[in-house]
Amino acid sequence: MAGNSPSIAVAQASGNVLIDAIVYVDLPLWTSQSPSSGLTVTYGFMTTPLGPNDADFTALDFAPLNVTQQAAVRLIYATSQSLTGLTFVETADAASADIAFGTMDIAGPSTMAITYFDAVTGTTDDGSPIFDLKDYVYLDNAEWRATLADPVPGSLGYETILHEIGHTLGLDDTAYTRSLPALLDNTDFTVMSYTETDTYKANFSVLDVAALHYLYADTGSIRPFGLTPVISWPETASPAPGSVLAVV
Ligand SMILES: [Zn+2]
Repeated sequence: MAGNSPSIAVAQASGNVLIDAIVYVDLPLWTSQSPSSGLTVTYGFMTTPLGPNDADFTALDFAPLNVTQQAAVRLIYATSQSLTGLTFVETADAASADIAFGTMDIAGPSTMAITYFDAVTGTTDDGSPIFDLKDYVYLDNAEWRATLADPVPGSLGYETILHEIGHTLGLDDTAYTRSLPALLDNTDFTVMSYTETDTYKANFSVLDVAALHYLYADTGSIRPFGLTPVISWPETASPAPGSVLAVV
């Protein structure tokens, strides 16, 4: 409808502290983007650096993902379909993909990977509202190059990609939410924790699965919980059009 802001669904707190400790509350969800067909999310691998619509973004020493890194991304999204009810489809055109992957020299010696959330709003020529979510995931290719170069399942590199893909699905770091009981704040319970246990994870852990089930459908249709109420864009709780929502 011309003149109306698009309605978007954002991640809502569930009231369950164990789920809310890894839900990125107020983050727009993929189910917002195209309500009539919002169950397909595309991803692609950058061949040139892409980033959020933000003058501060630069990709130092950009390089594409190698074949093993690409394979890890494909496998994680394939296994994420049954957890979310979303359909993930690879596209050769990273510029048009919902989620784009690349590598760069990420500033800071301790940062292995980074996910930028971006959202662009506007209207089409016929007045229809546009709400375009976009994620950019970068793996470090400097200090962490060796760790991330061969991310087979069960390696720290694979777990790192799993963590970043968790961000693309609406999950947050427990280090930021700071509400998970300390006994549970490790990767045995959630790969969104920075506390490693004795084995690197090749799958989302139990609280990740619970949170993804909460946020998304597992039957191919949008569940009424976790996605309501719908708010109008823009609201004060949401970022300005084109801004970077978070860097995690
Ligand atoms: Zn993170």
